[in-house]
Amino acid sequence: MPQWVHNHGRGIKVKVDVDTCTACQLCYDRLPEVFVDRGDGIPIVMLKVALEKVYEELLQVAEDCPSGSILISWTE
Ligand code: SF4
Repeated sequence: MPQWVHNHGRGIKVKVDVDTCTACQLCYDRLPEVFVDRGDGIPIVMLKVALEKVYEELLQVAEDCPSGSILISWTE
């Protein structure tokens, strides 16, 4: 059963599966406006800028996550 760290609202949900995340640091190295090391290498999601400013890169980082641990879904 996957465990998740932090969702975010405003039309989008970003989840990190802490069971599969390998703490490779890629997401917070590439996109510190969205991902922050919680202290053990696992990122928490903390959107610090308008979503529109990071949207394309967020999709790319989710795609590039080597373990596929970043899941994005859209809310109504
Ligand atoms: S890119 Fe993926 S595997 Fe690497 S730290 Fe981020 S969520 Fe974890």
